[in-house]
Amino acid sequence: LLMAYDPARRLAKMQVQIERAVVNARMIYDLLDMQPHQREKPGARDLVVKDARVELQGVTFSYANGGPILQGVDIVAEGGKTTALVGQSGAGKSTIINLIPRFYDPTEGRILIDGQDIADVTRQSLRRQLAYVSQQPYLFEGSIRDNIRYGRPDATDQEVEEAARLAYAHDFILAQPMGYETPVGENGMTLSGGQRQRLSIARALVRNAPILLLDEATSALDNESEAAVQKALDTAMRGRTVIVIAHRLSTVVKADKIIVMHEGRVVEEGTHDVLAQRKDGLYARLNNLQSPEKRI
Ligand code: ADP
Ligand code: MG
Repeated sequence: LLMAYDPARRLAKMQVQIERAVVNARMIYDLLDMQPHQREKPGARDLVVKDARVELQGVTFSYANGGPILQGVDIVAEGGKTTALVGQSGAGKSTIINLIPRFYDPTEGRILIDGQDIADVTRQSLRRQLAYVSQQPYLFEGSIRDNIRYGRPDATDQEVEEAARLAYAHDFILAQPMGYETPVGENGMTLSGGQRQRLSIARALVRNAPILLLDEATSALDNESEAAVQKALDTAMRGRTVIVIAHRLSTVVKADKIIVMHEGRVVEEGTHDVLAQRKDGLYARLNNLQSPEKRI
């Protein structure tokens, strides 16, 4: 019985992982406007962004034929500020990030950007305002230059290189055999984890979108890469509305607002200083588990 049960369970788990990887790739593709002929809702207007304030109002959500994953979630991510989502695995953090580009729609409640319900605007105008940096940076088949330019297909060579500089990638790119023309991706040059991260940050930077969705890596890079990636992220976050799934205490401490999730609900919110004082709170408990460089 065990032998029959175990592989089935593993297969089920694998399918969930594959589905998530597909969503992750889809996220990147869709955000890069690679599906220009999506159906738009009749009468949908273009989103007009001023402050880039993102608000979830009473958002409840279930994946197809599953129970509720988010329940009555209210979150305000102020324009130009960093809002960190923290909570144990399975709390619903990635699901929130998936709702903003409308890969899924809330079952109840709504999401507003500068007061406009994102269900009422064209997907294209919505996604143009968003950039996404995932935990697992995805490289497409093509040159380094192509990979950065995917962030905004009409970017000039100069803009691509400027983004690479800001992402602390320019120097390692020039050190590659063919510089910006070096092929990467499945059959290309192998890059380190930190280098891939910085290319994906450069891709987000060249996009120059006011809202940055960031899924911080859970696994540590070596110290040098870590520092370079951190500097690149700091640059990318500056002046933008950032919603970050934070795994590093140092990110959380710097956030303007921390949202603590538990089983699909917001259970605490505030700054690090305030939340850390609530000794019986979930945030304080999550925090005690780690030193500054450890991960949640
Ligand atoms: P977190 O990012 O906080 O770890 P997630 O948003 O990834 O949490 O997951 C919240 C819950 O939703 C989990 O129980 C997870 O198993 C479930 N879930 C996530 N993605 C899917 C999906 N594509 N289909 C069905 N269930 C999912
Ligand atoms: Mg997640």
